[in-house]
Amino acid sequence: MTVKTIQTEAVQNLLKKVAGLDNDQGSPRVKEIMYRLMSDIYKIIDDLDITPDEFWHAANYLNELGTNKEAVLLAPGLGFDHFLDIREDAKDAAVGLLGGTPRTIEGPLYVEGAPLSQTETRMDDGSTPGQGMWLHGQVVAEDGKPIAGALVDIWHADSKGGYSFFDTTQSELNLRRKVLTDENGYYYARSIVPSGYGCPPDGSSMKVLNLLGRHGNRPAHIHYFVSKPGFKHLTTQINLAGDPFTYDDFAFATRDELVVEAKPSNDPKMIEKHEFDGEYLDVEFNITLLESNSSSAEEMHSRARVSLV
Ligand code: FE
Repeated sequence: MTVKTIQTEAVQNLLKKVAGLDNDQGSPRVKEIMYRLMSDIYKIIDDLDITPDEFWHAANYLNELGTNKEAVLLAPGLGFDHFLDIREDAKDAAVGLLGGTPRTIEGPLYVEGAPLSQTETRMDDGSTPGQGMWLHGQVVAEDGKPIAGALVDIWHADSKGGYSFFDTTQSELNLRRKVLTDENGYYYARSIVPSGYGCPPDGSSMKVLNLLGRHGNRPAHIHYFVSKPGFKHLTTQINLAGDPFTYDDFAFATRDELVVEAKPSNDPKMIEKHEFDGEYLDVEFNITLLESNSSSAEEMHSRARVSLV
């Protein structure tokens, strides 16, 4: 039998006490959020007739999710990261700050502390075999003028889909590099072609995705932070065209403007100069930054990130 209790005096009083609305201590913002959150969850329990078995199953799942440190992995799978991007885009549009290369999700695997180079860098240290990749592009302003000295911070997975630091078989900062653009806005990086990857098959995120009939795979992609004082900070990533998951990313990071062709190349001079093992893939990603006079727009949002500095 379905019962409705949410509007009873007992439940309404309970919600106010739970959210601390009957005291003057604590944080008004947290109280506001908690009151709304608990009211909505109580209502879901009422409306969907959630049983005690289902509730305790969910509570135990949250324990497991935290123990496995997968909250930051389930979040993009449930669309939170992309939803936050949609909201940031809408806010930018409202103040006329939308344009340039689009943002997309950061993901949970950035590590601060990568070596910095001028103009050109080598990202792979040879600890993982993989096809060579020549990654390059130009950073420009909206009017097309090159941006010299822009900081291009790049990180990507290896040919097995693993990220250094988290994958301890790689050296700590493998495939993580920062490069400053030259006077014409160009940056260049020699690396290896990344592979896509999936959520751990026995992990907590996959448990939920399986129940939703969804997969947990990402296409091959390359992450970027791009910044320069006077310009809006850009967090983005490119997806390599032709991957089976390019347009079916479990984390919803794909944007049409960010799908980039990886062109097989055989230039003997490049092969010799950059020690490629034969054919390599040429990946060009040009970036447009928006001018900004707001220091908050120039900074990336804060979140817990590993730092090796
Ligand atoms: Fe990634």
